[in-house]
Amino acid sequence: MKASRKDSHRKSLFDESMEAFYRAAELIKLDPRVRLELEEPDFEHIFYITIETRDRLVPVTKEEEARFKDLPASSVKAGEALEPLANGQLVLHRRALLKADITLREGVLRIPKRGLFRIEKGGPKKFKAYRIQYNQVRGPYKGGVRFHKDVSLDLFKALAADMTWKTAIADIPFGGAKGGVRIDPSAYSKEEIEHVSLRFIYKLKSVIGPYVDIPAPDVNTNPEIMAIMMRQFTDGERMPHAMRGVVTGKDVRIGGSEGRAKATGQGTVYCLEEWARWRGESLAGKRVLVQGFGNVGTASAEILHALGAKIVGVQDAYGTVHNEKGLDVPALLAHAAAPDNLRRSVEGFTGGTKVAREDFWRLDAEIAIPAALGQSITGDVAEHLKCQVVAEGANGPTTPDGDKVLGDRKIDLIPDIICNAGGVTVSYYEWLQNLRMEHWTEADVNNRLERAIKANFGIIHDIATNSPQKTPLYDSRRFVVGKKIDMRTAAMALALRRIENHYLLEGFSQ
Ligand code: NAD
Repeated sequence: MKASRKDSHRKSLFDESMEAFYRAAELIKLDPRVRLELEEPDFEHIFYITIETRDRLVPVTKEEEARFKDLPASSVKAGEALEPLANGQLVLHRRALLKADITLREGVLRIPKRGLFRIEKGGPKKFKAYRIQYNQVRGPYKGGVRFHKDVSLDLFKALAADMTWKTAIADIPFGGAKGGVRIDPSAYSKEEIEHVSLRFIYKLKSVIGPYVDIPAPDVNTNPEIMAIMMRQFTDGERMPHAMRGVVTGKDVRIGGSEGRAKATGQGTVYCLEEWARWRGESLAGKRVLVQGFGNVGTASAEILHALGAKIVGVQDAYGTVHNEKGLDVPALLAHAAAPDNLRRSVEGFTGGTKVAREDFWRLDAEIAIPAALGQSITGDVAEHLKCQVVAEGANGPTTPDGDKVLGDRKIDLIPDIICNAGGVTVSYYEWLQNLRMEHWTEADVNNRLERAIKANFGIIHDIATNSPQKTPLYDSRRFVVGKKIDMRTAAMALALRRIENHYLLEGFSQ
């Protein structure tokens, strides 16, 4: 996402994301040794993975097309044998050539109904990969795996630190980690992505495990990928069934938890329900903007829609749709999931009007949910937001400038480390079920999740408003800092107190 002019001379993402840490550490007078322990990750694993890629058919350029206009069409076996990629290329499987009748000129052929393509040879390809293990004082390292072209050590350090705060806020016995691969998944086939996933776990095997470090899905990774990662880790082990908890976010049929797929969006909605309740309002009829229509965005939209809210705008990487009367969310989900919609995009949806990308955050709505990548709500964007609350479904979607403007404009904020903590909370339930060899119902999972998110969000709200209290659900008296503070600092204060307890009560190993 584009940085505003104000934001352009940025510090590193990690330094930026640590600003709330230093603010809260100062405020609660965090023990100096604990502060040092938490200022940098425990381990930074940087490594490379290599896979074999298949031959490709790459569309020829517009300029080249004229040269081949008389090239006769080839007859090749299409379907899966010519596998379409989201970037417009086709993967050429050998079976496409069975009984084919091909006319090639300078390596170019014409595929009926698809156009002119140049054959490009596949071969070995190398990718940079990362796993940052930030802190484990509260339990095994825990965090997602992201496949994206723009990842970096800086980004993963920031996200791994975030996981450390998030697991403490959710009060689950995990630490923080994050990692992934620098790759553009739209340019690779399902099989190639599978190979990347397998190599990723192969290389990490000695430093992860159900009691060591537990990966989960994040941007461009999903339950299918988690399943093969589990297989890769457990293959050849004497007790593979006892190790199913090595990754979470698996398919429910092979050890995943009911409710995990929607858990992050569900957690965001539980936070919004509390936010509305504090205002004496309901979510029914509220207008909502959702940026990102992947795991978090779709679940948030679907659940809010079912509660009677109106999803008036949705934006993803390829398109933006708007309908002031409220989008038909089930129809939009079906549009994005259609087999020929390779990018899983809202683009081309006919139940709304197209809006320019830069106008998205200027649309009228009461609730804004950034649920895509980081750095979306910059200072400039925040100046133009018309909503009452920003609920951070994504990790790190608001820049420090954005934070300041939201505060000045009295727009409420539900910080990421509680707003999207539903995912890791249900990941913990999945891990527990795996270790106990149990399978809980969706109602059971959601009841526990609701209590956990609402209790911890309640504590954060009490810290922010300086209103210590003991309720049937929680006790916030130990956490308030004696004055009113912003929600992001309040959330961080809660995380740091819980982490500090471990160091101070268990002592430091020498
Ligand atoms: P996903 O890969 O399922 O979906 C990402 C979505 O963002 C896609 O719709 C994509 O098109 C869109 N997007 C990408 N770039 C964009 C851009 N420049 N503008 C607008 N939209 C863009 O990912 P996800 O799992 O839903 O994760 C989304 C965010 O939520 C990430 O920040 C992730 O770290 C965070 N998160 C995810 C989980 C989880 O359980 N999946 C848990 C906690 C936090």
